[in-house]
Amino acid sequence: MSDRLPGFSTLAVHAGAQPDPTTGARATPIYQTTSFVFNDADHAASLFGLQAFGNIYTRIGNPTNAVLEERVAALEGGTAALAVASGHAAQVVVLQQLLQPGDEFIAARKLYGGSINQFTHAFKSFGWNVVWADPDDITSFERAVTPRTKAIFIESIANPAGSITDIEAISTVARKAGVPLIVDNTLASPYLIRPIDHGADIVVHSLTKFLGGHGNSIGGIIVDAGTFDWSTGGKYPMLSEPRPEYHGIRLQETFGNFAFAIACRVLGLRDLGPALSPFNAFMILTGIETLPLRMQKHCDNAKAVAEFLAGHPAVAAVNYAGLASDKYNQLARKYAPKGAGAVFTFSLKGGYDAGVSLVSKLQLFSHLANVGDTRSLVIHPASTTHSQLDDAAKIKSGAGPDVVRLSIGIEDKEDLIADLEQALGA
Ligand SMILES: *Cc1c(COP(=O)(O)O)cnc(C)c1O
Repeated sequence: MSDRLPGFSTLAVHAGAQPDPTTGARATPIYQTTSFVFNDADHAASLFGLQAFGNIYTRIGNPTNAVLEERVAALEGGTAALAVASGHAAQVVVLQQLLQPGDEFIAARKLYGGSINQFTHAFKSFGWNVVWADPDDITSFERAVTPRTKAIFIESIANPAGSITDIEAISTVARKAGVPLIVDNTLASPYLIRPIDHGADIVVHSLTKFLGGHGNSIGGIIVDAGTFDWSTGGKYPMLSEPRPEYHGIRLQETFGNFAFAIACRVLGLRDLGPALSPFNAFMILTGIETLPLRMQKHCDNAKAVAEFLAGHPAVAAVNYAGLASDKYNQLARKYAPKGAGAVFTFSLKGGYDAGVSLVSKLQLFSHLANVGDTRSLVIHPASTTHSQLDDAAKIKSGAGPDVVRLSIGIEDKEDLIADLEQALGA
């Protein structure tokens, strides 16, 4: 064996996986079982007391899911990961380790519409208070910090317009405030951006999107960067204080630079329960094997479609960070040099009605509420994903009434452009 460190594409195929020791199966088997037999009573006791690693029950961990966890941790450059049932479940499990009722977290205003809902309504009912900041104005994050702030949450490439966030600048604010930076890396995937390299302490994903990549399985994952010191000032008691659930052990003291991932598993997933099915883990692992190939094609197609739209007379504006004229192009060159992703918006001169009409005339593009599929997708956010926001909030989050969002797939770009041409022209 050479001592060369494996590259990204090699990790995408191999990280975490070995031929099955019992059967020789080369693809990772689906361990479709709820529970695992203990070797003996001592083994069982040590698993329950967190003195040994091993499988107990699929709500807490499963060998198929473990391969997925190891693979995504390797691709993101983290110390450990925890797979869960959805991207939203990942967000709940992460924040439950960090916030007590009455605490606050700061979130970028440009977010997936479902996350805006989750933070505003569901989390409020837990007593977790979101404070919004503007990712285009770093000082708005500084101004939002209070003694009750426990975390900062941003998207690397932000919904819905595909804008690029200045992760390093916001990580500096987080560091100064003594709180972890959580980055939702769903739209970039680690192929385009690795937030941990830019100062993120925790990365979350909706595996449903580009990582799974085929529009067939819901899943989420949490990656621990291993960078944050949870012991300071008693601010994070779930990690620093003795846990009554586990004979008084302190997670940070016991597990060091992967304590956060452990907390998410043994306190979050165990007690809240959003376990990922091993079948979905298998589907998502299969998707990840081709992530580098798909992501490059997604980005190359997106750039070609954005250039076509920018030259079309019915189009008022195109927001794609990969275009040299875009206001996020400088940040795209720094953070995502291989491509600016495949989700972006554009606005039509004909406003709301033109947006609705375009969506109804497209044939190759599917009209649905998802992104990151092999297939090209289209949606009109103002009447769907962002419809719960008032007009001012829609515009602030990049989902004004004249805006159409595309998620560009891996078809032939000429066919995508031809479909848009007929729908815009007709
Ligand atoms: C889809 C999505 C989520 C939520 O993920 P689910 O798997 O649908 O729960 C969170 N963040 C972003 C950026 C997303 O695109």
